Amino acid sequence: MTNEATPTKVDVDRATGLTLTWPDGSATTYDLEELRVNCPCAECRGLRDRGEAAWPRPSSPLPLRIEDAELVGAWGISFRWNDGHSTGIFAWELLRAWRDERHADEQTH
Ligand SMILES: [Zn+2]
Repeated sequence: MTNEATPTKVDVDRATGLTLTWPDGSATTYDLEELRVNCPCAECRGLRDRGEAAWPRPSSPLPLRIEDAELVGAWGISFRWNDGHSTGIFAWELLRAWRDERHADEQTH
């Protein structure tokens, strides 16, 4: 695990999203929806593999909110969402990769 992918600061705003500050001083904000739709747990991966949305589900309460957030060791964060979902662990490496993808997109457009 590289230190470069470990944020120095983690800000959770339950109504808007997650902001991570990286060792180089840059910050990345992830929308609630982006996090929930791309939830990395097996259940949500399975839904996406079948071409279904991981969120919103027919029973999903709107708007989406984070009820609780918990650091997972030194390597990531998990959320309890207001639809009761809580199995996804968002590893810093994964969030860092999303950030890098976004930057790559910005450079090509
Ligand atoms: Zn999930």
